Amino acid sequence: MLETTLIDYFQRYVAISSQSDAGKTCSPTTEGQRELASLLKSDLAVLGYNNTELLDSGILIAHLAGNKPEAKSIGFVAHLDTVDVGLSPDIHPQIRCYDGTPLCLNTETGFSISEDTHPELNKYVGQEILFTDGSSVLGADNKAAISVMMTLAKTLAESECTHGDVYFAFVPDEEIGLRGAKQLPLDRFPVEHCYTIDCCERGEVIFETFNAGSALLTIDGITAHPMSAKNVLVNPNLVAADFINLLGDMGKPEQTEGREGYFWVTDITGNQNRATVSVAIRDFDQASYDERKQYLETVGAFLKAKHPKAEIQLVVSDVYSNISQAMGEDTGALDRLYDALADLDIPAKTIAMRGGTDGSALSAKGLFTPNFFTGAHNFHSSYEFLPIPSFADSYRVAHRLVEMA
Ligand SMILES: [Zn+2]
Repeated sequence: MLETTLIDYFQRYVAISSQSDAGKTCSPTTEGQRELASLLKSDLAVLGYNNTELLDSGILIAHLAGNKPEAKSIGFVAHLDTVDVGLSPDIHPQIRCYDGTPLCLNTETGFSISEDTHPELNKYVGQEILFTDGSSVLGADNKAAISVMMTLAKTLAESECTHGDVYFAFVPDEEIGLRGAKQLPLDRFPVEHCYTIDCCERGEVIFETFNAGSALLTIDGITAHPMSAKNVLVNPNLVAADFINLLGDMGKPEQTEGREGYFWVTDITGNQNRATVSVAIRDFDQASYDERKQYLETVGAFLKAKHPKAEIQLVVSDVYSNISQAMGEDTGALDRLYDALADLDIPAKTIAMRGGTDGSALSAKGLFTPNFFTGAHNFHSSYEFLPIPSFADSYRVAHRLVEMA
């Protein structure tokens, strides 16, 4: 049965802790991700996929040759890592039927979930749902997608259906800046239609994400004893405060929604000698995004003029770009996705995602890559949950896309 296969794969893959580590520069950043990629490679070998490539970077690519020459080649991408938000790296999923009343998920800690705080549960009364035990995220982001792709790999290997070339890519370190997808060698993943399967509730389609950048301001001041500080001491912390105040009214995450962009001050460090401020830059519209970067440069120049004795350095870099910018004239991949949803009677919910997916990195490389749902809610939280009927529908969409290619 479809659901059993999906759940078996899911439990098998969440059993491997695979948080990524933003503090590391190697790829993958953690051994758990490599271990998961190796397990997938061996599971694929059992299904008859003997030509999978596990690259040094931790990227795993599998290919099923097509038997329908006129069909488009299609690729699916999922990420191996689970986000580290300070919760336990080990995941203990449980399946519970939600009956509409508050649900205790951990009798020891009293961790529970209810519609008071999570009204989205109301859509799933009477359904079997995968939950956490409150100590970790569920990891449906993105092991639900990995399970969908493995189930699809299994179905295609075992059935006689006709299809074009199908590629599967499992990439590391999505949660720490889409690092794996940025390294995916497209010559080994030569697909015409590409999709990520990530986050989001049943029916959700994403073909617009933020343009994203980061800025790091470093201020070296001049230290002095306060008794002889007049006209000598340059306090880098106050320059940092000036900088943050100047970002003031151009949007903050907590004040914006929909298609509004923002500056997000993510980190501040400071002592008497040096201060740093890290800022995330986000905007859907390319022109507005460019204006934000330009504004930061203007602020940097202003601070240098105002504090001539401080040494001020501003580094602004692009992190990923809006998927829709890679769509161009050929909307085939997206049209097919909407057709697949329509065929399956799943109402499409298109959202402009206030974040990025691996598709943002692939689209920046020129491969237009829309995203569709895994069915999960509340990712990056211990309240993450995955209704099993939605999980099965995620699989059905992937399968339908292959049939339609
Ligand atoms: Zn994800």
